[in-house]
Amino acid sequence: MADPAVSVVIPVFNEQANLPLLFKRIGAVLDTLDRSAEVVFVNDGSRDDSQKLLEDFHASRPTQVAVVEFNRNYGQHMAVMAGFEHARGDTIVTLDADLQNPPEEIPKLLGAIDAGHDSVGGRRVKRQDSFFRRTASRAINHLRESITDIRMDDQGCMLRAYTREVIDAVVSCHERATFIPALAYRFSKNPAEVDVAHEARQAGTSKYSLLRLARLNFDLITGFSLVPLHLFTGLGIFSACGSLLLVGILFFRRFIYPGASEAEGVFTLFAILFFLVSVLILGIGLIGEYVGRIYQVVQQRPRFVIHKVLAPVRR
Ligand code: UDP
Ligand code: MG
Repeated sequence: MADPAVSVVIPVFNEQANLPLLFKRIGAVLDTLDRSAEVVFVNDGSRDDSQKLLEDFHASRPTQVAVVEFNRNYGQHMAVMAGFEHARGDTIVTLDADLQNPPEEIPKLLGAIDAGHDSVGGRRVKRQDSFFRRTASRAINHLRESITDIRMDDQGCMLRAYTREVIDAVVSCHERATFIPALAYRFSKNPAEVDVAHEARQAGTSKYSLLRLARLNFDLITGFSLVPLHLFTGLGIFSACGSLLLVGILFFRRFIYPGASEAEGVFTLFAILFFLVSVLILGIGLIGEYVGRIYQVVQQRPRFVIHKVLAPVRR
């Protein structure tokens, strides 16, 4: 049997409450699709019954379902990466397991791929997330837009489709901390975005704590821009010039107008000093974000360990 035309890659982390309905809805979409398709589930170290459910799905549609099981949790983007490595389709679609991305929108993405786009992002209309998430997203979207050359309206939507060419390039990357929509954008020639529906999480809670969310966004910024480092260089030059000016003024007052006392300004000086020290600590932290990510790559450990694979049965 030939390889399927489409692979749908779905990362799964403790989603037992969502999987049955997801599989039902995905199955219905696959059955009405105008081309052959498979689903690649990647179990990202779930501690609930997700793996058992996924194995049942494989048993019920053996030719259409692949299951990749990690030994532990490596994060959504690594799970999607592993899914890409196992996907056989010419077009690869990603979506979340919590049904926030309706599988019924897949044909719309495929339509844009057919129209000649090699990377198609979903643009969530009426996004069903908390006010905090939407606001934070907007801020990061803004920041990404101003310090990288990546242009998209909705970077966070994981309902997306890519051509084989783009996915081969993505899979050839060895970074550990990455942001797949941005990475794929870098390798595409003719990207597009289409409006897609967005639903509230069907069951369970988001797998992203505030800390994980912050880390993911740092992955996006450090992975695709050196502007934060350049900003610090600029800031350093600026503050050095300011300090030099201050030294000049103090020198002038001490030797040309002797008798002028500067001791009164000691707390002002402290305030300025504290501010500059904070900026310095921030700079060291920022460099640390880059260095830590370099360190992970330099160690050359495997990005993830696959414990088990259930490959689709070839008829
Ligand atoms: N996910 C994962 N590994 C993780 C965190 C999340 O595979 O460490 C999966 C999760 O099961 C879901 C998708 O990534 O299919 C998106 O996660 P979630 O819905 O929690 O993120 P949010 O919608 O809150 O951004
Ligand atoms: Mg979600």
